[in-house]
Amino acid sequence: MVEMASIGKLSKWSRSSAWLSAFGILSVVGLCAISALMLWQMRWDTARKAEITSRSLVQVLSRDIDRNIDLYNIALRTVIEGIQRPEVMDAAPQLRHMLLFDRITTAPGFGYILVLDQNGNVIANSQTLGPTSINVADREYFQYFAANADDNLHVSAPVISRVSGQWMLTLSRRISNAEGAFQGVVTGGIYLSYFHSLFSSVDVNNPGTVTLSGPGGTIVMREPYEPKQIGTSISQTVSYESIVEMKSGSFTGPAMLGTGDRLFVFTQIQDLPLYLSVALPLHDIYAGWWWKALALGFVVLALSATIIALIWRLGRELFHRTQAEQITAALNIELNKLATTDALTGLFNRRQFDISLSKEWRRAVRNQHQLSLLILDADYFKGFNDRYGHQKGDEALQLIARSIEAAIDRSHDIACRIGGEEFAVVLPDTDPAGAIVVAERIRMSVLGWKVPHAVNPHALLTISGGLAHILETNVVDPTTLIAAADQALYEAKAGGRNQVRASANNSSPSIG
Ligand code: GH3
Ligand code: MG
Ligand code: MG
Repeated sequence: MVEMASIGKLSKWSRSSAWLSAFGILSVVGLCAISALMLWQMRWDTARKAEITSRSLVQVLSRDIDRNIDLYNIALRTVIEGIQRPEVMDAAPQLRHMLLFDRITTAPGFGYILVLDQNGNVIANSQTLGPTSINVADREYFQYFAANADDNLHVSAPVISRVSGQWMLTLSRRISNAEGAFQGVVTGGIYLSYFHSLFSSVDVNNPGTVTLSGPGGTIVMREPYEPKQIGTSISQTVSYESIVEMKSGSFTGPAMLGTGDRLFVFTQIQDLPLYLSVALPLHDIYAGWWWKALALGFVVLALSATIIALIWRLGRELFHRTQAEQITAALNIELNKLATTDALTGLFNRRQFDISLSKEWRRAVRNQHQLSLLILDADYFKGFNDRYGHQKGDEALQLIARSIEAAIDRSHDIACRIGGEEFAVVLPDTDPAGAIVVAERIRMSVLGWKVPHAVNPHALLTISGGLAHILETNVVDPTTLIAAADQALYEAKAGGRNQVRASANNSSPSIG
């Protein structure tokens, strides 16, 4: 009984705790999942915002450079057209100078235009009317045009100009005669300071770098400005190779100069070997995001810890309560047992006898069932005690109890110790004959223990029994039934003990 109750409570407890744990795990996992999703979204937004900002910067700068290169190109073409017209070349030096070079004044950053003959000697200089005794036959663009009949604009890697003594980006076009033979080159130089001021004018808040690279991956201009870097090559870097391959777009890759990863947004200027790129360090892009992630992570951690702690406490309380309930239930069972059983024999006590008898009596009356009551009493027990001692007396009472238990059907019959050496057995649904069989079985069983009893004429421990039956004695209440059984017992005692007598109204004979 106790064990079954405990198992029931235990399974209830484990079910509740399983639900509680599931709820806790789900809450924490859900919280973490939502936070991770939010962080991922925030990170994505941050990267996208950085890319949009860089893209608009690239757009503004490339448009400016693009427009100016167009102007320089037109200026170079104007010069070529001019020198191919005899009336221009035949004009007075001042007028000729004006006709050839007038256009370049509108182009910002434009240094000069030189007209070179097929030997690389300067034959006209936009900056001076006088002769310029410079030869540029060794320059890359001159050798390129001498070898290639290319009518397009040519951009060279930045060089320090022999005319201005400053870093310049050289644009040039070929002068060919009607047959396409090489006649010379028209070349113009753009001060790199133009790019420097252009970059620094729009680039105030940009934490990254802006790079314009020329042919062969040489740095034309870079912001933040570092003079030593001008003219050096970045062609060997992975990111530069990707830029040249993609021409325009964005990607994340290793820095071209320096360490760490960058977000590159870039574009090619016209179809020229000029690439403009903006590179943002990833740690700068995500710096703000990291702080938010840390703060959110901390909050999520604190919340998860709180949920876990709460659930743990709740679980513990639930466990303690269930444990307390189990203990109370076990105590109640124990108390109930104590209240209903006799400590010496383990049979029901007097109180339980009264309750059981009246319950069985009511049931028998209600259903017109049989009910027998047997009262048993140890013979000459005072003498036994006096002779053998109280301890032996107790042991004898326990033997009588075992005899009673062995003789009855425990599922129906109710065995009690109702007094010192007095016992009662309530026998529901049992007729007088059946009751006498039980009584005799008990009497014989006690005799069978062969406990010596010198004071008893039978020389052994014996008992006497009185039997009463509800129908045959026509009892009106349980007390009357007890009295009838007592009367029968008295008769058994008077008749010599070690026997069972049925109540006077009972027709059954006395036995023993
Ligand atoms: P009778 O045959 O007429 O029943 O004689 P008896 O001596 O058994 O009856 P009596 O009522 O004079 O004495 C009952 C004795 O039972 C008194 C006491 O010594 C003994 N007794 C009662 N309760 C206990 C008990 O719990 N333990 C022991 N050892 N003896 C008990
Ligand atoms: Mg007695
Ligand atoms: Mg007695």
